[in-house]
Amino acid sequence: MELFAIFGDPVSHSRSPLMHNCVFKNLNYKACYTRIHLKDGSQLRDTFFALKLSGANITVPHKEAAFNACDEIRGFANEVGVVNTIINEHGKLVGYNTDADGFMYAIEEFKNIQNILVIGAGGTAKALSSRFKQDNIEVDVLNRSEGRLQDFKNVVDNTYTWDSFTIKKYDLVVNTTSAGLSDDNYPCPQDILEKVLENTSYVADAIYGKLTPFLKLASDKNITYKDGSDMLLGQGVLANELFVNKKLKKEEIQKYMKKSFSL
Ligand code: NDP
Repeated sequence: MELFAIFGDPVSHSRSPLMHNCVFKNLNYKACYTRIHLKDGSQLRDTFFALKLSGANITVPHKEAAFNACDEIRGFANEVGVVNTIINEHGKLVGYNTDADGFMYAIEEFKNIQNILVIGAGGTAKALSSRFKQDNIEVDVLNRSEGRLQDFKNVVDNTYTWDSFTIKKYDLVVNTTSAGLSDDNYPCPQDILEKVLENTSYVADAIYGKLTPFLKLASDKNITYKDGSDMLLGQGVLANELFVNKKLKKEEIQKYMKKSFSL
């Protein structure tokens, strides 16, 4: 029996165990997926091997530590230095990032996206911004503080703090901050948000399972919006494919993972 896990702090809210176990159970794949509350990201590698895990997902705040814990990084994770999926390949730790493609899957139904405002400058913002730029989309990043914006200067078109921001028209505005996750905060001051949303076609939040104040504002303004559930599904399907090394059909993984959302 193979064992998989999600590492995070906090991690008790994570739906990943339910999602992956639903796939394993329904497709008779002999594996089990659990959650591990890890406070110190530098312990990730030792903990992973001590528990004899076959693979894992990594959530807040350890995605950058996960990148450093790996022996080899494959694909898009190399672009951003952020890893959310690790696989034990014969004792070698291989890291991937499935968040960005998971988000592209989530916004497939949003048409004609040519410019995007990303609110936040953490790991998720980094992954999504680089992925958008790969598709030649114009990207601006707005963050509460200046510090993390440095990493974006050579990647996106414009970076702003709340003070330096000037309003313009965006096709999509994405919240990648944790504002609204366990509080009722907007990701930036309400007056900025009100004006931005007046000129926006679509809105998305990385936070899932709740109507954040940000999404509520979009809803009040009759803007098409979605929470992070489809992103969660998208990244989960891609991670599960890596876990089972393509031994299960993607459509089947997707079917049962989606089913877990109604459990
Ligand atoms: P990080 O900790 O790397 O980044 C957090 C960002 O949020 C920083 O830019 C920080 O700004 C900003 N921030 C935090 N609190 C506030 C606040 N009260 N007001 C304004 N800005 C704030 O987090 P991640 O990028 O890893 O994750 C961000 C969110 O995305 C989380 O809620 C996570 O659950 C969600 N997520 C969802 C996924 C899904 O599948 N649906 C996948 C991945 C993430 P500053 O730099 O000023 O500190």
